Amino acid sequence: MKKILFTALVFLMAFSAFMLPAGAVGKGPNYNGNETIKDERLTSHEDLMQQVERAAERSESIELEIIGESVKGRDLPLVKFGNDEDNPTILFLTQQHGNEVLITEAALNVIKNLATNSRQNRELAEEVNIFFVPRLNPDGAAGDVNFDISDHVGGGLATRANAENVDLNRDHNTQEQPETQALHDNVLSAYDIDYLVDFHHQGAKSGIDGELVSGSILYPTNEGVDPEVVEMSKQLGSVMYDAVEDRGFGLLGKYNGGDANTIARNGLAYEYDIATLLFEMRGMIDHSNPNQVLGQKSNGYLIQQGVISMEAAIEAIADRSISSADTTFWDTLEVQSFIGEEEEEGE
Ligand SMILES: [Zn+2]
Repeated sequence: MKKILFTALVFLMAFSAFMLPAGAVGKGPNYNGNETIKDERLTSHEDLMQQVERAAERSESIELEIIGESVKGRDLPLVKFGNDEDNPTILFLTQQHGNEVLITEAALNVIKNLATNSRQNRELAEEVNIFFVPRLNPDGAAGDVNFDISDHVGGGLATRANAENVDLNRDHNTQEQPETQALHDNVLSAYDIDYLVDFHHQGAKSGIDGELVSGSILYPTNEGVDPEVVEMSKQLGSVMYDAVEDRGFGLLGKYNGGDANTIARNGLAYEYDIATLLFEMRGMIDHSNPNQVLGQKSNGYLIQQGVISMEAAIEAIADRSISSADTTFWDTLEVQSFIGEEEEEGE
């Protein structure tokens, strides 16, 4: 009896670091005018390119493709794990908005995990294709843009739009910018993609039940999207939501989003019949509105939230369990609202 208790205690201690109270991430510190905003621990474009090149060199399952260039001439990478056309394909898209940075760090972590030639990874490559477009907007991410961003609270470390001051997630119909053209011509039209997660960061002050959330999710809501695609999108959301909830990692709300097809969540599901999930993480690195900005203290947890949810999606698609995921939680998932005075920018 004692031994069992002792074992249970050791087990609890070993995992206590991961068993955070629900909402721990959501309750993390805000930018409050005192906490310093820095980007030195985040991955620069040069480092990002080095990391994906190294992953492709090391791994027999990973290929790197350059799908185009940003306005300022930065390469746009597509990382492809697995290359069996008969298998389902998921695409993780990050950082259409340059100031939404942590989810790209999460993607790079997942890529690194996939880059070892372990038996597990070799077997995974037999079951699923996993694509990443990490950081579609490298110019905005570098704060290297053709307009003034000195009003940002961090001094202009990064900004939402691309170098021409166009919001890339409003350019999916017009495709006037080289970044959206590259995504549509060389990824979405070139490959048969089944699932897509469009990752963003929302403002720092959204909540449900009076508690700040660590993120929010939503499926396509444009009425032209095939109902089967909507259902598959909801299943993708179910798998990722459960993973975050099960690990006690965060508190997710339902995103309050519009129906327009200019945004990826609706437009890509409509145009390409790709099951698409919007996944918003909490807080941006820099913005002119302090309510959007989150200090660094929650970075590790938010990156982990991204890693956990991506890996859950990969696993459920690889073993095909995603097709039986329960979508009824969507009916009761609370729509987040803004806790504060000013409206936030999102999606
Ligand atoms: Zn965004």
